[in-house]
Amino acid sequence: MSILHRADPEVAAIIDDERTRQIESLEMIASENYASAAVLEATGSVFTNKYAEGYPGKRYYAGNQHSDRLEQLAIDRAKQLFGAEHANVQPTSGAEANMAAYLAFANPGDTIMGMELSQGGHLTHGSPVNFSGRLYRFVPYTVDRETETIDMAEVRRLALEHRPRIIVSGATAYPRTIDFAAFAEIAREAGALLMADISHIAGLVAGGVHPSPVPCADIVTTTTHKTLRGPRGALALCKAEHAEALDRGVFPGTQGGPHLHSIAAKAVAFGEALRPEFKAYAAQVVRNAAVLAEELMRAGIRLVSGGTDNHLILVDCNSVGISGLKAQNALQGAGIITNRNTIPYDQRSAYVTSGLRLGTPALTSRGMKEDEMRRVAAWIIRVLKDPDGEGVRDAVRAEVAEFARAYPVPGITDAEPVAATA
Ligand SMILES: *Cc1c(COP(=O)(O)O)cnc(C)c1O
Repeated sequence: MSILHRADPEVAAIIDDERTRQIESLEMIASENYASAAVLEATGSVFTNKYAEGYPGKRYYAGNQHSDRLEQLAIDRAKQLFGAEHANVQPTSGAEANMAAYLAFANPGDTIMGMELSQGGHLTHGSPVNFSGRLYRFVPYTVDRETETIDMAEVRRLALEHRPRIIVSGATAYPRTIDFAAFAEIAREAGALLMADISHIAGLVAGGVHPSPVPCADIVTTTTHKTLRGPRGALALCKAEHAEALDRGVFPGTQGGPHLHSIAAKAVAFGEALRPEFKAYAAQVVRNAAVLAEELMRAGIRLVSGGTDNHLILVDCNSVGISGLKAQNALQGAGIITNRNTIPYDQRSAYVTSGLRLGTPALTSRGMKEDEMRRVAAWIIRVLKDPDGEGVRDAVRAEVAEFARAYPVPGITDAEPVAATA
């Protein structure tokens, strides 16, 4: 029995249930993943107890000799992993990293350009209910109606018309490669800074299977818990000339004391991502998404933009005559965990939606490859084509649970989080 079970059986029981859920279901939410046992151990370490406002060598509290070593190690590894001139490892989440970046480089009321939220942009890219949309004047850019890919001609036209302080590139539900170099050229022409929010694709960038924005963007923000497979948290990178402004944007601009336990876990995750196995993992994530896309399309299911280049797929549920909400709930009943999502020019509300987002990062961390993706696709197709069929749902749930248990979950079972061999 663990210490937690003795101290607080009520919380321990809930955690046990969640552990079982993670083992028995197929996690296909594109922003989720499994952190390794080493990352989880660092997250639960004694650094939880320490205050360290400031930065290595410039703290506002005593007792930080080990905090300084820790944070410097995380910084050095982040710089090495992404080839960046400067790294700030303190942002506690992707939203805070973006807030710090806006605060550092724009004034309230300034114009910022970001991707239209209903077409793949993030809440922090100008939603009216988010700080971003309330404090800044966001101008959204969209995808082309035909190709459903970012309309770079429109990005340029809007940038030259509105002259934003910052152009944000990056998305939360976009299945195609983002041309950061093209964004950089437009930003230069318009006199704007280019910010790349690579929260979703950071692991693909680190693994070398998506072009990196680091050479061409002024600022790069990312979460650490999605494809990067680290702890919940974030990271901000920038050119040396912006380092001081960015650091001040994080602390004291938007945060107090850094979460050193998360920084410890980020250092571990960056170390893992620096190993050659991580490149193989990232490549397998992309191959798995491609196979999944192919199988679904062969069954007559339409995908936004006609496929994927990265770790995620956006299903147009209209092609099977149901809403995203209905698809999500039917799949959940079958043990396949996804999220509904708007599709470009969606006719349904943001609550109901016409889309379903599917990602392969978590399944790939369990060691699943192309053959497994074909089986998973078959289950998804069965459920989506008979979303009201309780018999189908129950049968699939039983098969999924048995199948899932055969693939150890990093951090929960004894599995190492190294999924693929090249
Ligand atoms: C996930 C995500 C974020 C926010 O990260 P949180 O840690 O949930 O705050 C920001 N931007 C993009 C593009 C994301 O995908």
